[in-house]
Amino acid sequence: MLRCLFSVLLALSFLFCLPALGEETGSPLYVRKVEGLPEDFIFGMDASSVIAEEASGVKYYDAAGREADVFQVLADSGITHIRVRVWNDPYDADGNGYGGGNCDIRTAVEIGKRATACGMKLIVDFHYSDFWADPGKQMVPKAWAGMAIEEKTEAVYQYTLDCLKQLKDAGVDVGMVQTGNETNNLLCGEKTWFNIQYLMQAGAKATREVFPEALVALHFANPEKAGSYATYAKKMDYYQVDYDVFATSYYPYWHGTLDNLAAVLTEISETYGKKVMVMETSYAYTPEDSDFFGNTVGDGGTIIKDYPFTVQGQANSVRNITDTLVSRVPGAIGVVYWEGTWISVGTNSWEENHEKWETFGSGWATSHAAGYDPADAGKYYGGCAVDNQAMFDPAGRPLDSLQVFRYMREGHEVPVVPDALEDVNLVCDLSLPVALPDTVNAVMNDNSRQAVPVVWELPAEKEEEMHASGPAVYEITGEAGGMQAHAWVSMVYYNYLVNDSFEDGDTGWTFTDLKKADELYVEDKKTDSLTGTKHAHFWSAARDSVEFTLEQQPAELPAGRYTFSISVMGGDAGEHEVYAYVKEGDTVLKSEPMKITSYGSWDTGTVPAFEHTEGQPVTVGIYVRCQGAGNGAWGKIDDAKLNSAP
Ligand code: CA
Repeated sequence: MLRCLFSVLLALSFLFCLPALGEETGSPLYVRKVEGLPEDFIFGMDASSVIAEEASGVKYYDAAGREADVFQVLADSGITHIRVRVWNDPYDADGNGYGGGNCDIRTAVEIGKRATACGMKLIVDFHYSDFWADPGKQMVPKAWAGMAIEEKTEAVYQYTLDCLKQLKDAGVDVGMVQTGNETNNLLCGEKTWFNIQYLMQAGAKATREVFPEALVALHFANPEKAGSYATYAKKMDYYQVDYDVFATSYYPYWHGTLDNLAAVLTEISETYGKKVMVMETSYAYTPEDSDFFGNTVGDGGTIIKDYPFTVQGQANSVRNITDTLVSRVPGAIGVVYWEGTWISVGTNSWEENHEKWETFGSGWATSHAAGYDPADAGKYYGGCAVDNQAMFDPAGRPLDSLQVFRYMREGHEVPVVPDALEDVNLVCDLSLPVALPDTVNAVMNDNSRQAVPVVWELPAEKEEEMHASGPAVYEITGEAGGMQAHAWVSMVYYNYLVNDSFEDGDTGWTFTDLKKADELYVEDKKTDSLTGTKHAHFWSAARDSVEFTLEQQPAELPAGRYTFSISVMGGDAGEHEVYAYVKEGDTVLKSEPMKITSYGSWDTGTVPAFEHTEGQPVTVGIYVRCQGAGNGAWGKIDDAKLNSAP
């Protein structure tokens, strides 16, 4: 029996493990060596969906562009361990798969055999659920529903034992077994650590019996939650849970800083003498979706983007996580990339892909999962939400970033060049030349930041059109460091006044009360404002007590031609004199009379265009004097504009 199995393995090796041809691809990937990287450091790849992907017609290629066994491509790239999730029974009563790779133990055996044939070990990730288990969701398998904890503990033990025996019988080289997936306070429908620890113990017991050499790992998520990991580790210690590795998910967008990661893992390693590792991580190499099913991470939103979404950015993320573990965390044993092989099953249409997802389980969930998981899968089933975080492109060719695992050992320091350019955002006065910057900010391939020279493409005709067409936003492209640079230029009537709508109170403005008004201040009252919620307000009870100016001196006003306008409304003004004005020094250059009529009737005074030569201080403002109709007068002033004049 053993001999027979051995020859099957040899045959598999022959089929799948074409010898590595050893050519360099001339990869432009920059990878700084990780100093002190142990020879046996684990570089894992979760490849749980590969079988469903292949059934859907996905093909994988090697770096030279030849169709290849994806496991061999991974092994050649420095991957030492393949991780696979295991669900108890991801099928409905009619035998339709729930999706997400339909990862039951049969799938795991198939993946395990292929990984072993390529010289890699398997990390078995028991979810103890029929479908996805994560911090928010740890549903009990259908067959175990309603079991008391004693019975469920026995079920976990027997199930784990049976699964691991199947792997052993198939000759799979199991290096590690997870007794649960992201078990933050929940596991297999249990909600108390008192019960959860029994299940973890049962999984560990079965693992020790079948694979005594394998490591037993617990896996948690959210290292950024202060104190949570210390609490989990303390609980495990209190209950004397049998495990070797305290593992964490670490997705840089959500899971805090590398400093924090290093601190929380170090604390556990030093306090309890456990090995620690990153069991899941990934990073987007592009913001684009490729399978017509929206992705978890893309441009926009509130995610934290530590690196640009480029192939190099993806590699830098993995490299820096590894470096953090190796250089700063005692007992760190590895990093596993999550689902780097999960790519689009097709690039033609949603309909075509949808059929494959439903038939082969190559999307995250099928409609058939609705009965088991109505709240999540039942509503949102569909394709792959992480295809832009894979390490293969949509056609199945490995990205350069896949080489990061190999390169980290010796380093691969190619010349430092720009990897991504920051967009330029510019606001430009319609009357002034478009002043594009000489440099743009770049993220370099070594993750440093530099300003690199840029050459913009802005023909004179286009710039003329930009000045002639009124307010609008234009995209200007250019070339910087061999890449396309983008500038977004907003052509506006630039307002040279600050706090032009009084939303920042009286900042920038000076009231000069020439008589003694009862009220003269900036008021917060949306219904009395022309725009925003605030405006300048005046009121006085006594007749002939309103006379004031409200002025601003613009800080920087280039020489040129300008107009100034401001608006007023009010009532009970009686005989009154109101005007907008522009002064140079103490000399009024231009003014424009205004009228106060009734509530809500705003009058905008626009002074005729005036010439300004640099060096002369300019003041703009409004003069108000009201005798009052009967008693006092009141009014509101808002929206001052000092714009270039044509
Ligand atoms: Ca997608």
